[in-house]
Amino acid sequence: TGDALRALLLSRIHDVPDYPKPGVMFKDITPLLADPVAFGALTEALAALCRTHRADKVVGLEARGFILAAPVAVSAGVGFVPVRKAGKLPGATLRQTYDLEYGTAEIEIHSDAVRPGERVLVIDDVLATGGTAEASLHLLRRAGAEVVGVAVLLELGFLGGRQRLQASLGDTPLEAL
Ligand code: AMP
Repeated sequence: TGDALRALLLSRIHDVPDYPKPGVMFKDITPLLADPVAFGALTEALAALCRTHRADKVVGLEARGFILAAPVAVSAGVGFVPVRKAGKLPGATLRQTYDLEYGTAEIEIHSDAVRPGERVLVIDDVLATGGTAEASLHLLRRAGAEVVGVAVLLELGFLGGRQRLQASLGDTPLEAL
């Protein structure tokens, strides 16, 4: 990512203190989405990653990952696959449970969403603790996908998500724009 792109993207992400609860600095990407130049530049940077990694599909993580990944799929000329919170997909699904700070969460993918060996790029807005990305990696591999990369707009380095993901990633690149 070039310095100019990085500066543009950062300028369009707003910090909202104590949302959704005290102590959390929420990274609001709605200003970026509202700016066609910034959103377009982000889309093209992610589409370039798609081509570099020869992805057959892009996977968006609910919910903001959907917004970022869908135009990337169109730009790169590949399919889009949603990983959803449990209970939202109508067909047969695979489900992955993972731990949150308090309790657990579940995500799902349609069982037939990827063909065996299909190359997928996973996209989300923010990498925080890495729990969501880790669960997605496991889910996608169970579904038969070859995950060729995980791409996020923003990585909150101090939360240690990258270290947490190390074992699950192996040689798979994690790229934060
Ligand atoms: P995690 O599983 O902890 O890596 O959290 C990642 C998911 O939670 C992503 O889908 C983000 O959209 C969301 N998220 C976590 N922390 C933040 C934050 N500080 N600002 C915005 N979104 C966040």
